[in-house]
Amino acid sequence: VSAPEGLARLIRDVPDFPEPGIVYKDITPLLGDGAAFRAAIDGLAVRVASAGIAVDRIAGIEARGFIVGAALAARIGVGFAPVRKPGKLPWETVGAEYALEYGTDRLEIHRDAVLPGQDVLIVDDVIATGGTAATAAHLVESLGARVSGFAFLVEIEALPGRVAVAPHPTVALLTL
Ligand code: AMP
Repeated sequence: VSAPEGLARLIRDVPDFPEPGIVYKDITPLLGDGAAFRAAIDGLAVRVASAGIAVDRIAGIEARGFIVGAALAARIGVGFAPVRKPGKLPWETVGAEYALEYGTDRLEIHRDAVLPGQDVLIVDDVIATGGTAATAAHLVESLGARVSGFAFLVEIEALPGRVAVAPHPTVALLTL
């Protein structure tokens, strides 16, 4: 399996998880298949390069963005910066709140995770509304780095995530 259609078969739809009405895109079958996982990361790296996105560092969003982002960082040969839920990072952080359907959530990053002037690619497994990725981008920019683009395994076609993170270039391996 290496063609995107083959990889799409390894993304499992789980209806009504984590709550009624959400169709959860479960990437664990893809992660469990070594050849598919490698093909997915290679495919994402090709799309990032083809889009002309410069990458000095990758910022991956907890938790599945760590898996995809760290693999892509190692593949491209750049450093990885974890963007985490509150209270997880041990050193000095900056954080930002963002709105969820009900209530708010918060993301944090170490102050030295990205450097002023660096081109940073934001990575996660799935982009839905784009609120999470936009918040990670805001944190990166607050530290003086540039957001050069966004990369996801899956873009949810019915939702306006790509618009929410515009005008930065966005690449996705699969649009489902
Ligand atoms: P959003 O901020 O709406 O773009 O949501 C993106 C975040 O929520 C990412 O960290 C995704 O992993 C997760 N997420 C949102 N919707 C889904 C979905 N349908 N399937 C799997 N993960 C999702």
